[in-house]
Amino acid sequence: MRNFALTSAPAPERAIAAHGPRREASYIAGGTTLIDLIKLDVLRPHELIDVSRLALDEVERLADGRLRIGAMVTNTDLAHHPLVRDSYPVLSQAILAGASTQIRNLATTGGNVMQRTRCPYYRDVAAACNRREPGSGCDALHGINRMHAVLGVSEACIATHPSDMCVALAALGASLTLQGPDGTREIAFNDFHRLPGEHPEIEHELADGELITHVTLDTPVAGAGAAYLKLRDRASYEFALASAAAVVAVEDGVIRDVRLALGGVATKPWRAVEAEQALDGQPAAISSYEMAAEAALQDAVPREHNAFKIPLARQAIVRALRDAATASEARQGVQG
Ligand code: SF4
Repeated sequence: MRNFALTSAPAPERAIAAHGPRREASYIAGGTTLIDLIKLDVLRPHELIDVSRLALDEVERLADGRLRIGAMVTNTDLAHHPLVRDSYPVLSQAILAGASTQIRNLATTGGNVMQRTRCPYYRDVAAACNRREPGSGCDALHGINRMHAVLGVSEACIATHPSDMCVALAALGASLTLQGPDGTREIAFNDFHRLPGEHPEIEHELADGELITHVTLDTPVAGAGAAYLKLRDRASYEFALASAAAVVAVEDGVIRDVRLALGGVATKPWRAVEAEQALDGQPAAISSYEMAAEAALQDAVPREHNAFKIPLARQAIVRALRDAATASEARQGVQG
């Protein structure tokens, strides 16, 4: 492990000034990914700016009905917050499906959005990895790629995005507030993470020195039920092989509104737009969910060891949609 300087920032402006436009500086909050990667010599920041004490730890309902989450709210606090549990249950479910209690107690909302891939070749400095060393190649393409992506891949990188929380955010719709030396701007969550293309080393739209200060969720879908289903090798403390976050509103047996996102199978949190379009106005029935699953995976590109993820993701989609639709119908039964 290399030496680095550590600076503590009491306010976002001070943190941003301390960071400046330097690539060799890095913000740190919970450190649940960053410290690992520094120990592995994958990341080599000269200076860490500690943002964990910034006053960005509130969850508040805005006047327009959206929910604003401070970037320093821990995963534990967010998952158990009453406004999240009641109005965005898929977010609570997704967060609690990830990591361990100890990690969720430290990990922050902003840090989770910035989570790095778990590709083992990325984490091994002896391996070729375009994401870690641009232009060096990708050992996963012809290596052990059982955990890798089938959607959004390129010939330069097939790494999955590891977050569960981000899959729920992709389904719910959200925006990120980014603060930097030139002021504050908003970006849609689903535009924030980049596909790898020819430049997998550029993972997101954050400029050097910019800091995520808030995540704002879209207004809840009226009458919707929600479900997050995560399929993995063991029941806890494991990353997804395939996951699905579904938010479905059913009216008189017909799908009136649906939001679907996938995890474990894609290079970024994956909003399944084609599946949503296929479901619009369809009966709330297994046949509709199967059709949507086909649409969601029609462009999947399997590799030697991960073709099993395609039928697995189909199952996750069908079951998550079924459970979300059932919850929507149950809510209407209670309200009626
Ligand atoms: Fe690196 Fe991406 Fe290839 Fe993994 S899949 S080795 S992260 S380039």
